[in-house]
Amino acid sequence: MAQIPDHIIDRIRESVDIVEVISRYIQLKKQGKNYKALCPFHVEKTASFTVSPDKQIFYCFGCGAGGNVYNFLMRYEKITFFEAIQKLSAETGIELPKFREDEKKLSEFDQLYRANQFACEFYYNQLLQKYSSIEPYLKKRGIRKETIEFFKIGYASEEWDNLYQEILHKKLAIEPFLKAGLILESEKDRQKKYDRFRHRLLFPIHNLSGRVIAFGGRDLSHTPDTPKYINSPESAIYNKSQVLYGLYYAKEWIRQEGFVIIVEGYMDHLQLFQHEIKNVVATSGTALTGDHAKVIRRYTKDIILCYDADTAGIQAAIRGGQILFQENFDLKVLILPENEDPDSFLQKHDKSEFYALLKTSRDYFDFRMDYLQKTIGIADVSQKSKIVEDLIECLAGHTDPLKQNFYANVMSEKFNLQEGMLSEQIRKKSQILKKRESKYSPTDTPKIDQEKKGITLIGAWGAEKDLLIILLNYLDEVKEAIFQMVDEQDFLNPEFRELYSLIRANSNKPKEELTHWLFTIIKDERVLSLLTADLFKEIKKPDRYVNDCILKIKVTRHQTEIDLLKQKLKPLNPSQPEFHKYLQEINFHLAKIQEIRKIFTQK
Ligand SMILES: [Zn+2]
Repeated sequence: MAQIPDHIIDRIRESVDIVEVISRYIQLKKQGKNYKALCPFHVEKTASFTVSPDKQIFYCFGCGAGGNVYNFLMRYEKITFFEAIQKLSAETGIELPKFREDEKKLSEFDQLYRANQFACEFYYNQLLQKYSSIEPYLKKRGIRKETIEFFKIGYASEEWDNLYQEILHKKLAIEPFLKAGLILESEKDRQKKYDRFRHRLLFPIHNLSGRVIAFGGRDLSHTPDTPKYINSPESAIYNKSQVLYGLYYAKEWIRQEGFVIIVEGYMDHLQLFQHEIKNVVATSGTALTGDHAKVIRRYTKDIILCYDADTAGIQAAIRGGQILFQENFDLKVLILPENEDPDSFLQKHDKSEFYALLKTSRDYFDFRMDYLQKTIGIADVSQKSKIVEDLIECLAGHTDPLKQNFYANVMSEKFNLQEGMLSEQIRKKSQILKKRESKYSPTDTPKIDQEKKGITLIGAWGAEKDLLIILLNYLDEVKEAIFQMVDEQDFLNPEFRELYSLIRANSNKPKEELTHWLFTIIKDERVLSLLTADLFKEIKKPDRYVNDCILKIKVTRHQTEIDLLKQKLKPLNPSQPEFHKYLQEINFHLAKIQEIRKIFTQK
C-alpha cells in the first residue's frame, strides 16, 4: 500500500474528536471524565465500552476492543486503515498525497463494496432502460419514480448473464462478483457463469455508512416455482442477522422521532418512506435476532411492529417481536386494518391519520395474550394452562426482573392465579433457559474474547507490559534510565519485545504521537487490546515501580535461561565437555541475578 506520511496521519487524527466520531455510531454517556456506552462489538447489558477524550482512545472492558479513532472506524465500518484515513481526510479537508490507483492494493472488503456498487448502478440503469416493461407492476404497488431514483432500485432482466457480460465487457475481475454472490458458477462446468438475479426488481441493501452490501430481489415472473424473494448470500461485508433494510436512511429520523417502525417487506418500507414516514426499517424476510436488537438500541428503545392483519402477519409479529420484547425494548404492535397495507392505507388517509393509527398500537405482551386467547380459547382449564405456559416461556427470557414481575401481575389478574406461584414458575423456567443457553449457544461470545484469553504470555509479562505502559505515559522522564538498563533481549514475549524496540527507535516523537502511531502499527488485536486497557489506568509516581518492573523482567529472563540450561544439563554427566560449559553459563546467570538484585536494593 502506498505510504501516507506519519505527520498527515497525525494531523487528521488530531483534527477530529474521537468522542464526536464515535457518537455518530453509538450513544455515548458522560461518566466522570470518560464516556461510556454499550459495546458495539459484543453483546452486553451494562456499558463497558469506554472512550477517553483526554487520551483520544477507546477501550471495551468486556471484549477488549480498543485503540484510537482509526481503529474504531476500521472495526466498526469493516474498512482498512487506508480507508479510515481517507474517510476522515475527506471531512477534515486535510488532503492525502495522490496515489495512482494501481498502487493501492484493494482490500477484500473494498473489492466487495465495489462489486456491489457496480451491480447497483448497472441494475438501476437497466431499470431506466426497460422501465415501460415493469411500470405496470410498480404502478400496482404504488412505487413512485422518485422513490426508485432515491433508493436506486434496479431491475435484473430475464437474460441469464446480463451482468456477467457487462463485467466481461468492462474487463473487471470476476472474483469479487463471485464472492458477493452476484455471479454464480455452473457446478458441472465452472467456466460457465451466470447471474444470480434474473427477472427481478432489486433493492440495494446498505450498511450503516451507506455502502451497498447486498441485494434483495423480488420476482417479477410470477411463475409458481420461483421464490418470491431471494437475497444476496452472506459475505465478508453482509451479515443478514445484523442488517435491517433501510436503516441507513432511517437512522436520523429514528433519533428525531424517538421511535422506529419495523415493517415486514421492502415494499412496505418504500411506501411509508414515500409518504414522508421515514423512521422505518424492514426485516425483509429474515427473522429478528439479538444482533438486530443491538443495532436498533443504538438509536432508540421504542419500537412499533407494523404488520399485515392476516394470520401470517400476526404470527410474524409475535415471533419476531419476542426477542425485542425480551431484550427490554418498549415494544408495541400495530396490526393494520383488514386488507390494508401501508400504501393502501396512505392512499386514503394522510400522515397524521397514520400517526393516529400508530397511537392505537398495543403493548406486545398484551397483544400476545389476546391473540392466544382468541386462537386457543379460554373455555376450559387445559386451554387456559396452554396460554399461561406460553406466556411464562416468553417472560422467562426477559432481561428485566421488574418487568417480569409486572407482567406476572397482569397474568395473575387475568387468569386468577397466585402471583407468587407465577413468579416462581417464571424464575424456574428462566434458569432452565439460561442453562440451555450456556450449553448450546456460545454464539454471542465475541471471538476476540476467546482470542484474548488464548494469548500465551510467558515470564514476567505483566512487568514487561507495565514497563511499556510507563514508557508511553512518562516517555521523556523515564526513557533514558530504562533504555540504559533494559535490552530488547530482556523481554521474553516477542510481542512486547517488538513494541519495546519500536518505542526505543521512535522515542524522539512526542509521547501522544508515539502512542497513536503504535496503534496504527500493531497488527495483533490482542496486543492492541492489552495496551489500550492499561492506558486507561493512571500510573502515578513511576520511579519505584519502574525499578520493580526492571528487576522482575531481568531476574525472570536470567532465571528462564537457568531453567533451560538445567534441562540441558540433566541428561549429561560431568565427564562430558558440555556439562562444564552449561554449568559455567548457569553460574554466569546466577551472578547476573545477584548483581541486579544488589543494584536495585541499593536504590
Ligand atoms: Zn466489547
